[in-house]
Amino acid sequence: MKNTFVHKEQLEKIAAQFPTPFYLYDEKGIRENVRKLQKAFAWNSGFREYFAVKATPNPEILRIMKEEGCGVDCSSLTELMLSDAVGFHGHHIMFSSNETPPEEFVLAQKLGALINLDDFTHIDFLKETAGIPETICCRFNPGGTFQISNAIMDTPGESKYGFTREQLEEGFVKLKELGAKRFGIHAFLASNTTDDGYYPTLAGILFRTAVEIYRKTGIGISFINLSGGVGIPYRPEQKPADIEKIGEGVRKAYEEILVPAGLNDVAIFTELGRFMLGPYGCLVTKAIHEKHIYKEYIGVDACAANLLRPAMYGAYHHITVMGKENAPCDHKYDIVGSLCENNDKFAIDRMLPKIDRGDLLVIHDAGAHGHSMGYNYNGRLRSAELLLKEDATVQLIRRAETPADYFATLDFLGLFPPKD
Ligand SMILES: *Cc1c(COP(=O)(O)O)cnc(C)c1O
Repeated sequence: MKNTFVHKEQLEKIAAQFPTPFYLYDEKGIRENVRKLQKAFAWNSGFREYFAVKATPNPEILRIMKEEGCGVDCSSLTELMLSDAVGFHGHHIMFSSNETPPEEFVLAQKLGALINLDDFTHIDFLKETAGIPETICCRFNPGGTFQISNAIMDTPGESKYGFTREQLEEGFVKLKELGAKRFGIHAFLASNTTDDGYYPTLAGILFRTAVEIYRKTGIGISFINLSGGVGIPYRPEQKPADIEKIGEGVRKAYEEILVPAGLNDVAIFTELGRFMLGPYGCLVTKAIHEKHIYKEYIGVDACAANLLRPAMYGAYHHITVMGKENAPCDHKYDIVGSLCENNDKFAIDRMLPKIDRGDLLVIHDAGAHGHSMGYNYNGRLRSAELLLKEDATVQLIRRAETPADYFATLDFLGLFPPKD
């Protein structure tokens, strides 16, 4: 069983004020989790989490992150603009993009962001578009398969990101010649893993690479960015990542590899998205139809345009029927949205308590890569986002889209403002 961070009466009150579907975020949970992460890496004086904006690009969420001392990781022009508007600047912004358009490098440079280059050829591209900054980071792709013990976690050799090992060394030498003075290494080798060995293993690879490069070129690495990828337990039976143990594992690798090589002042950065927000946001939707054909369906007022992960990856999201937390799960349902796509299913053959029309359903762990992956297929509109604050009040932090928003790029049709 998975607990919700709101109870039924509280949620009914919220739903009376804000029509479903909506996203609800838990400020208290977000803040406590950031503090746990920072405590786990407190041994590293330069540690900073750069929250991955793409996970939950809402200014109020970013403001909470800022208050907790985090930076932001941006990957596009609008994410840079949003971060700038919230008040992030300089080295509190990491710009980790790929296939980057020139104007994005220009804005990143103007904001004084830490630029993380995705490719060797981007060195010349950056030089020509925005100039080479004094501090620069390169994304490393070691190729092949990425393993922890004997388990294959992912295949970097098949991924489009990063420099090869040779390019990385050559890249740092070239960047130094072009005037760069401080250097960082970044890599992202596994996504959504709750394996506590992920960061320590990745750190080991990056630390050894930093030492090799230092020995061969004399170029010292100032920071190592472990990027994102620490996962969350979407399924109730899954074990959560133990962030304290993870921080300790990275510390051990640091002391075994970096310190003896004379690299004892390297800052550790993370760029987590899912781990920071995933569990602290949910999608709240209402059962509006039930249908009995070859299977039992519950139609809800949210759809894949609000939360794409189940349709896109077959991702599991736990569902709680509010007020029926302790009722027996003796009904097998497909929980479906309204898109004209048969993959618009939040759950397939899920055992749940009997659902009645009007029941509120909480779709768990939607706080990261949830609302932000929303889209407008079938003319569906993106929902509101609400923040459940620490004092238990609720703040509307993004209003729901309206038809006027949907037609805004077609305003020559004269549909808005409506004539009567
Ligand atoms: C998506 C992304 C992240 C965040 O990933 P999570 O899985 O949400 O932790 C961090 N860095 C980069 C470069 C990314 O593309």
